Amino acid sequence: MTTPFSGAEAIVSALRPNDPILLLRADEARAAARACVDAFPGTVAYAVKVCDRPDVLKALADGGIRHWDVASLHEVRAVLSVAPDAVLHYMNPIKALAHIAAAHDLGVRTFAFDCERELHKIAQATAGDREVIPVVRLRVPNDKARFPLDGKFGCSEAEATALLRLAVEMGYRPGITFHVGSQCESPDAYRVATEIACRVAVEAGIEPSILDIGGGFPAAYRGDEPSFGSCAAAAKAGLDAFFPAFGGVFQCEPGRLLAAPAASVLVRVELRKGNNLFLNDGYYGLLSELKWMTGLHPVRLVRPGRASQAPLQPFAFFGPTCDSIDAMEGPYHLPGDIDEGDWIEISLLGAYSTVLATRFNGFPEARVIEVRETKELREAA
Ligand SMILES: *Cc1c(COP(=O)(O)O)cnc(C)c1O
Repeated sequence: MTTPFSGAEAIVSALRPNDPILLLRADEARAAARACVDAFPGTVAYAVKVCDRPDVLKALADGGIRHWDVASLHEVRAVLSVAPDAVLHYMNPIKALAHIAAAHDLGVRTFAFDCERELHKIAQATAGDREVIPVVRLRVPNDKARFPLDGKFGCSEAEATALLRLAVEMGYRPGITFHVGSQCESPDAYRVATEIACRVAVEAGIEPSILDIGGGFPAAYRGDEPSFGSCAAAAKAGLDAFFPAFGGVFQCEPGRLLAAPAASVLVRVELRKGNNLFLNDGYYGLLSELKWMTGLHPVRLVRPGRASQAPLQPFAFFGPTCDSIDAMEGPYHLPGDIDEGDWIEISLLGAYSTVLATRFNGFPEARVIEVRETKELREAA
């Protein structure tokens, strides 16, 4: 195996790359997983949809992830090929019957649902196996999240109460889950949502077999976001208020939090028009998050040997395709003398990047280079 590069400067110096590069930082993903598992008073299930690269899954497993939140049969197989002992939770509330059955055959026991028909599908596809845990997806406030996720899935409190009762009548020990929205910057949103879930359980007359607080935990793009620990503690306080001696499984499903540190992206400026920078990657490649969560990701000029002294200015980014959607308004603050031929490193882009990249306009999948920053290099920076 080739020696990993120490960072973006070394890659630019050695390769002067014409095409965007994904800088894979497996050590960072492993460390993020370790910190999360250590901080959470329950089980941590990584949300595979956020980044399903085998090297990232492996790094997270090395960091202590044993549980995996999957959204498709394909993700079930992807995880099992990397972690054969994985405990899988199929948390997409609407699934093909054949995929439920196949996942069950592969050992999956937890399945989400948000309506009566899907509960019956789960029962049918798993041949009435009462070891299966149907988990009701409850709709909770998403107004504290940068990227709300309440528009499609989740039932009301009244519906959830009825569905829990029905699941019990059918012989199950059901669970409850919710999602507060992605990049949720309010620990209190976790307390509020957990209390809603607990109130539903009490109303239905059950103690949930699983209380799964979903994902949404913020990545540290600016550095002043609330910590994972504070979000977890807020949810735990909500749980303790209702079930002080909770006997079920308390679980979370971080995606972005664990995957964001796994990669950065190295792009080049192909043209500057005023404060608009035309880059060699964009919305249809690895940068679609920059459109929806604008101006959040850390950016820096990479110009080895010729560091800029120019003050920072706000810039907008444009991608390389012919579509006017391919624009990311930012603002992104970079040295005022940045120009054609300069490279930019965009950090914390391991989440929702590789999984969303297309081949639109013929731009191929980005090359991946492993980066390993030694402690000495980091301290010298
Ligand atoms: C997307 C998703 C997650 C992960 O969300 P993040 O905001 O990336 O942490 C977790 N659970 C479910 C059910 C999801 O759909």
